[in-house]
Amino acid sequence: MIAKVKGMNDLVYPESEKLNKVIEKIRFLFKLYNAREIVTPLLEHSEVFHREKENSDMVIKETYDFMDRGNRKLTIRPEGTAGVARAYLENKLYLDDDIVKLFYFGTFYRYERPQKGRLREFRQFGIEVFNSDSYLIDLEVIELVSRIYNSFGLKTRIRLNSLGNETSILNYKSKIKEYFNLYKESLCPDCLNRLENNPLRILDCKVDCHKDFFKNAPSTLKYLDLDSKKRFEELLKLLDKLEIPYLVDDKLVRGLDYYSETVFEIDILSDNNDAIKTLGGGGRYNNLTKELGGENTSCFGFAGGIERLINALDETNYDYKLSDSPKFYIITFDKEFEDYGLSILKEIRDKNIAAEFSYKDRSIKSKVKKGITLNSKYLIIIGKNEFDNQTLILKDTVTSTQEELSYSSFKEFLENMEK
Ligand code: AMP
Repeated sequence: MIAKVKGMNDLVYPESEKLNKVIEKIRFLFKLYNAREIVTPLLEHSEVFHREKENSDMVIKETYDFMDRGNRKLTIRPEGTAGVARAYLENKLYLDDDIVKLFYFGTFYRYERPQKGRLREFRQFGIEVFNSDSYLIDLEVIELVSRIYNSFGLKTRIRLNSLGNETSILNYKSKIKEYFNLYKESLCPDCLNRLENNPLRILDCKVDCHKDFFKNAPSTLKYLDLDSKKRFEELLKLLDKLEIPYLVDDKLVRGLDYYSETVFEIDILSDNNDAIKTLGGGGRYNNLTKELGGENTSCFGFAGGIERLINALDETNYDYKLSDSPKFYIITFDKEFEDYGLSILKEIRDKNIAAEFSYKDRSIKSKVKKGITLNSKYLIIIGKNEFDNQTLILKDTVTSTQEELSYSSFKEFLENMEK
């Protein structure tokens, strides 16, 4: 038997249905904010992700890259933002001259070491808002993200920071390099590499972050200029006003190189308010569209992992309200009566009511048993008598009562049924 590829999962019912339920709810919330859905391809030209200035581990080490049969270098998308930004430019959505809010759902691929909560194929939902550098847009997205997780009844907290503008980031980078150089001997092998190529990334390290010297690393907030500082303060004031719980984390830099000013993540909290896991993150990125060959555009975005969200929901025994079993299960006693049974089946489905037929050739007893395990409210039973008289037996599995109905009374019964 051929097994699935490492790091990829089959979503067998009810997992598949949980996924759809979660997406449905998030889509509804995105629309409350006047965002429009965008669907972009799974494959992009590699340059969309492998940009000159992008040094993140995700892009350097984790992308699935290949040459297609026409010798084009392609990458299977590892994240949503760059593809959406490419589509924004290519479809000239900037001609709108107003803010453009786009949301998406998609499957993403990263060649990571698979472990709990970390897959090679996973899903994200996300939003990107283009064409405004106002902190009110930062607020709008953060508030929306907080609303999404609250609507599932999860206890979460926003963790946020400001990186400031390009100059502050450059100053901070050199400061961080200087600082971690002092602790070279204590850095993990990955961070030793980062020290040379990408010192900010050290702050994302899950190994070194528990060490003492890490906690005393310089704060990004010290390097902000007046504008960035004011902007961040205004944002925090509004978060307070809207009573959105947050925590300032002055070492949060996020994994990608395109961020500036506000960055944030959302964590799920334990009963005593410890952050257990990150569900998603985002921030402001003002240079990405330029790196993709367009004009500089101000953008703010967020992406959240859907599997991570479902895991968190499963832990709280969330009620997904999965679809009910078919309302009717039709059992015929003999092959001869099947066409009569099938016309009843059609009649029910024509009324948009879910129904199933006992297709499998088995004993009457097992057919009835199947109807019961399927949890159908009604069994419809057709024996010789019912076939001859064009009637049917309607058995209510909840009350354990049954009655014989003529075909026309059954149609009437369907008509009056609460769907
Ligand atoms: P990122 O795009 O790396 O900021 O990730 C945003 C969110 O997507 C994370 O917080 C996770 O919830 C989810 N995510 C990222 N990578 C993976 C992965 N390999 N497996 C499952 N979920 C992931």
